[in-house]
Amino acid sequence: MYINQHLCDVCGTCVSVCPVDAIEVFETQVVIDNDVCISCGKCAQVCPARAIGDAL
Ligand code: SF4
Repeated sequence: MYINQHLCDVCGTCVSVCPVDAIEVFETQVVIDNDVCISCGKCAQVCPARAIGDAL
């Protein structure tokens, strides 16, 4: 999954729903480790800014 950094508010909502802990929140941006991500789509569903998708 990919995060549109222009839309992301770095709220951290996606982190708690990821079943494989692929998402990390840093001070200024959220990063998804696509080597760990299983593309379940849960983070995209809960993102209030609709910043997460399966393509850039
Ligand atoms: Fe985690 Fe699923 Fe989002 Fe991948 S798609 S980062 S596994 S919540």
